[in-house]
Amino acid sequence: MILHIDMDAFYASVEELDNPLLKGKCVIVGGQSERGVVSAANYEARKFGVHSAMPVFQARKKCPEAIFLPPRMGRYKELSAKFMSILREFSPLVEPVSIDEAYVDITGCERLFGGINEIAPGIKKRIRERLNLSCSLGVAPSKFLAKIASDMDKPDGLTIIMPEKVQQFIESLPIHKVPGVGKNTHDKLELMGIRTLGDVKKYPAEILQKKFGKFGRRLMELADGIDRSVVTPVSKTKSVSAEETLLRDTDDKQALKKYILKQAEKVGRELRKLDIRARTISVKIKHSDFKQITRSVTIQDPTQSSEVIIREAFQLLENYRMPKEVRLIGVGVSNLVSETESVQVDIFERDDPENSNWEKLDEAIDTITGKFGTDVIKRASLKDEK
Ligand SMILES: [Mg+2]
Repeated sequence: MILHIDMDAFYASVEELDNPLLKGKCVIVGGQSERGVVSAANYEARKFGVHSAMPVFQARKKCPEAIFLPPRMGRYKELSAKFMSILREFSPLVEPVSIDEAYVDITGCERLFGGINEIAPGIKKRIRERLNLSCSLGVAPSKFLAKIASDMDKPDGLTIIMPEKVQQFIESLPIHKVPGVGKNTHDKLELMGIRTLGDVKKYPAEILQKKFGKFGRRLMELADGIDRSVVTPVSKTKSVSAEETLLRDTDDKQALKKYILKQAEKVGRELRKLDIRARTISVKIKHSDFKQITRSVTIQDPTQSSEVIIREAFQLLENYRMPKEVRLIGVGVSNLVSETESVQVDIFERDDPENSNWEKLDEAIDTITGKFGTDVIKRASLKDEK
């Protein structure tokens, strides 16, 4: 069984905790200027329609009496660390997904702490006792259902979806609740008559796959209750990289690109294998005098596409003015998020046809290199440069 635990209105609750005079009032934590956005609103403020990511000026209009506070990230991080360590007292398999949210796999820990009906309330109680904060907790046989469950009874909620209830739950689950279904996808699905996750099963697999690519297939799996993503403690993979010492030192950027290309392919393949995405892409260069530099770029939509990594790494190299010849070059990615999380926040555009085409290409290449080795296929961009 997997748990998803989400602190309630975290930033705002911490502010109330540190200043009890705020209790019962509308509290909004957000950017300090009128141009900023709301980071968190407590439940009193939410009653007025204020929600996170709303521009501050709009929040002020909706809830003029609210108390606006600047975020105190240091304090939130301190409590977040305590929150995560409480979770680790129950299981070593804790995957933080954001400052106030984590998955916990408690399979095998039941004997130690009693059944799920004891562990789940036990965690809530310990968080309440030690931090004096409330959280909402969802329990289910898979990550995606645990996440949906924790959201069902906020704040201070506890929702358990027992394995025998999963199919029934899926049949009636509104499709927009499924992580990754953004507005565009929702509209398309609705047009096809798909209103619940259960409806997905009534549709021919080929059509879903044609319309939505990889995500279509994921929807079909979810409809069958299959979610292959596992709880991955973040410390396990913090970065993925590949590097090589060159046969001969060079400052020829075209020659360096050939190395980058191969390395980026390797890194992309590894990300897809681990089913994680990266936000930061780096190029590392060691010069002939052994001086080392790293150039990085952070992209908006986490990626596991070789093509994107290649593009960004090429750009980093292009922008770099080389003082000396290069003896070693490498490509790396960091700032990793699990697939479930990146789908959940819908940060990358599922409906972007170009993006899904790259994903299809990556898949095809993975299949072939898996069968025949990495030398069989070369991207057009590499061939061009030969
Ligand atoms: Mg939260």
